[in-house]
Amino acid sequence: MSFAQPGNATAAAAETGAGARLAQMIRTLIISTANDAPRSRQRRIGPSEVGNPCARALAYKILDWPEVPGADRDPWASVQGTAVHAWMADLFETRDPNGDRYLVEQRVTVRKGITEAADIAGSADLYDRHTGTVFDWKVTGTSSLAKYRSKGPGDQYRIQANLYGLGMRNAGENPRRVAIVFLPRHHILDPFVWVDDFRPDVAEAALARLDAIRDQILSTNPEANPEAWAGFPTSPDAKCFFCPWRRPDSTDLATGCPGHQTT
Ligand code: SF4
Repeated sequence: MSFAQPGNATAAAAETGAGARLAQMIRTLIISTANDAPRSRQRRIGPSEVGNPCARALAYKILDWPEVPGADRDPWASVQGTAVHAWMADLFETRDPNGDRYLVEQRVTVRKGITEAADIAGSADLYDRHTGTVFDWKVTGTSSLAKYRSKGPGDQYRIQANLYGLGMRNAGENPRRVAIVFLPRHHILDPFVWVDDFRPDVAEAALARLDAIRDQILSTNPEANPEAWAGFPTSPDAKCFFCPWRRPDSTDLATGCPGHQTT
């Protein structure tokens, strides 16, 4: 007697024909929907970007420079992040429906700009009024989680957390701590939480750096002088793989950046 299950097509068969076409259809649907989401179309600089270690990427962003067409940017990690954020928001809203203790996805202004479009503003994942703690969720892969455990969150995340602290203070709250909660992307729930005192000086220094990049744009005008792009330093910590202005073979920074160069 055979105990094989009925209809157990081989993996190879699933990779061809109808299965492959459906896989491609689902992938296309997810990518087109994700790329059309408001966060993907965001043009102004948000708190998560202010601490970008790459000044050139920030300069491209400030000028709303055209992204490299056709770059293959897989949105799956951000789709997962968005889903987890929604689940966590629901969790705290359910526990505290009147918002007495928890402010969930609270929109805050970190700094007013000369126009609304120039505001630095965003939604803080969670604020606990009892402890004065600003929380930020990060859904993280295995190797990155190990890195954050051993080396801390890095400047960009630390700056983001403190910018939200500043935003909460601007909203009349009394933030005392910032916490980044790294939630694993894999199937075992072993989060790592980095927590620190709220440091408004960290946020202010990052905003001052952003202003310096704006000043350099005004003084060098890379729109009219493409060679000026080279004056915006990149960083070994730049996340080139995810950068919308990355064009690996580029020799013209006005049409794309080849990425951080070590020589
Ligand atoms: S590709 Fe890398 S170095 Fe170039 S602008 Fe983007 S993040 Fe910076």
